[in-house]
Amino acid sequence: MRLEILSKSQNESFARVVVAAFVAQLDPTLEELADIKTAVSEAVTNSIIHGYLEELGKIVIECGIMGETLEVTIEDFGKGIENIEQAREPLFTSKPELERSGMGFTVMETFMDYVEIDSQIGRGTKIRMSK
Ligand code: ATP
Ligand code: MG
Repeated sequence: MRLEILSKSQNESFARVVVAAFVAQLDPTLEELADIKTAVSEAVTNSIIHGYLEELGKIVIECGIMGETLEVTIEDFGKGIENIEQAREPLFTSKPELERSGMGFTVMETFMDYVEIDSQIGRGTKIRMSK
């Protein structure tokens, strides 16, 4: 499944619902479904808020199934992450003025079994997750 959306805030819930509908074929528990939706929501929100700042850009969400495992990637072509190590740390945020708590990556890592961050300054960010 491949979904391409614009980085508008209304599209965050759209992406979350589409991924949830895709995952239904794996017959997840309610808890698993909630975990996946939360992780996707964090990643898409990051692309909207940090990847593209004030401009609008493209976000690509891809889902696949390997055996009983969901693989999901969320990719933007925006600003990129300067320091990935630092970005992964709980409570680190580059936007304290926007009242971000710096917990997005921690949430993704808590709720998913695997999280990989691939990012280049000025090129964009790709998050691969599985559960
Ligand atoms: P919260 O998610 O709790 O609202 P946050 O978004 O700042 O706060 P994280 O989601 O953990 O926290 O992200 C940490 C930092 O990584 C961000 O503050 C931002 O600097 C950087 N970042 C994350 N995703 C992206 C992205 N797609 N593009 C550019 N920078 C990003
Ligand atoms: Mg975040």
